Amino acid sequence: MKSSDIVVVGGGVIGCAVAYYAAKRGLQVTLIDQPKRGRATSASAGGLWPLGESIGLGCGVIFYKAQLAKGIVPEGADGPAQLPRSFLDFAMQSNAMFPTLTEELRETGGLDIELERTSLLYLIYDEADEAFARPLWRNCPCGRSLSEWLTPEELARAEPAVTRNVRGALRFNGDDQVNPYRLADAYRAAARALGAELLPYTEVTNVRVEKGRVVAVETAAQRIRCDVVVNAAGAWAPQIARMVGIDLPVQPVRGQIIGTETLPDVLSSCLSTTDCYLAQKRHGEIIIGSTTEEVGFDVGVTRSGIKTLAAGAIRALPFLKQVNVKRVWAGLRPGTPDELPVLGPIESVTGYYNACGHFRTGILNSPLTGLLLAELLSGAPLSFPIEPFLLSRLAPMVPVERLSNHPPQPNRSHAVANGEPS
Ligand SMILES: Cc1cc2nc3c(=O)[nH]c(=O)nc-3n(C[C@H](O)[C@H](O)[C@H](O)COP(=O)(O)OP(=O)(O)OC[C@H]3O[C@@H](n4cnc5c(N)ncnc54)[C@H](O)[C@@H]3O)c2cc1C
Repeated sequence: MKSSDIVVVGGGVIGCAVAYYAAKRGLQVTLIDQPKRGRATSASAGGLWPLGESIGLGCGVIFYKAQLAKGIVPEGADGPAQLPRSFLDFAMQSNAMFPTLTEELRETGGLDIELERTSLLYLIYDEADEAFARPLWRNCPCGRSLSEWLTPEELARAEPAVTRNVRGALRFNGDDQVNPYRLADAYRAAARALGAELLPYTEVTNVRVEKGRVVAVETAAQRIRCDVVVNAAGAWAPQIARMVGIDLPVQPVRGQIIGTETLPDVLSSCLSTTDCYLAQKRHGEIIIGSTTEEVGFDVGVTRSGIKTLAAGAIRALPFLKQVNVKRVWAGLRPGTPDELPVLGPIESVTGYYNACGHFRTGILNSPLTGLLLAELLSGAPLSFPIEPFLLSRLAPMVPVERLSNHPPQPNRSHAVANGEPS
């Protein structure tokens, strides 16, 4: 029987980051991945928006507006959900790792992850947008130094292609972007260069637990003896958790997204609006995202979803009306009830670790997730407190059979009506 100290299940950006940081610490790692349709990393826009996402911009504000339009605003909500300070701090720390990571991955993995210092601009179209954005600016959780209010004239100078039908924009400095596919590839290549073993196109079919300890991981072809398994299986993480008798409240949240034909440089910032977000990647495509839908594992795109995004994009950048769409696609974000990732060990099974539930910020939060998991696995002091992200915050650690009668009580839900694109 083959053996490995650590088996990481799932080769998206999170599993690859964990494999990279663990291998960097000299741990013996095997990364197993069966690429499934809709895996999130292959669908992502690659935004690194710690401030924007924490205060409810990006998908948050698109989703909120869609809910308002349907008259289904969550009780007591007066704007998109804002995430707790622990999340913002985590995201800021993770984001700050990117410059060094870029160099490391270029050296070790031989790939450029195309980190771009862009900033994120929230476009203010009307009174309602302004009423939402003004307090965010005044009480920005990171202080005024990272946010800036642009007048329409300042916005026109900064981004000449943006519509003039705006009241201005709120800029977040430090909210940047990478190429998400390159990032996962680079982590994987670097992990391999540091000695990690990769098993691509391989499904994990079982995790064996004896006397409360992980002892092996099984695939159709083999059993791999191991003391530690890291569950980084994205939207499929509950299937792996069930193998060790744990109920994990992670569920797929579909995001539809559009890529334009390759264009000359027209945007220097990423844009967030109540209709969509837009990011021009280094190779010239403008990425227009994204819906937030709970439709199970359906990875189809819908006419209404794509039309809504396209209309929002043309509203922000009128010249897009003349531009071809090259491709549309959808991916499955691993969502959690409180929108925070699920990280770290559980009480009931020694050797089992979560690294999942990254919802709409897995690209951004991959470096700190990878580092923290590697620190946990090597017994090193942690670079960030893990407590706010433990599974125990969501549900008591009880076996699946018992949980089925007592579903975990979410703090907040990002649920949308089934089948309805935002
Ligand atoms: C449209 C869209 C836009 C997004 N934009 C952004 C953004 O701008 N910025 C940002 O930070 N985040 C963004 N996200 C979120 C981000 O993409 C995810 O949070 C992140 O990719 C999650 O990574 P993961 O590795 O956990 O999951 P995945 O990428 O889904 O990887 C999980 C892997 O595990 C594999 N797997 C599952 N079961 C098994 C098994 N039994 N055996 C072996 N392998 C298995 C899957 O096939 C998959 O390859 C976006 C997501 C979507 C859908």
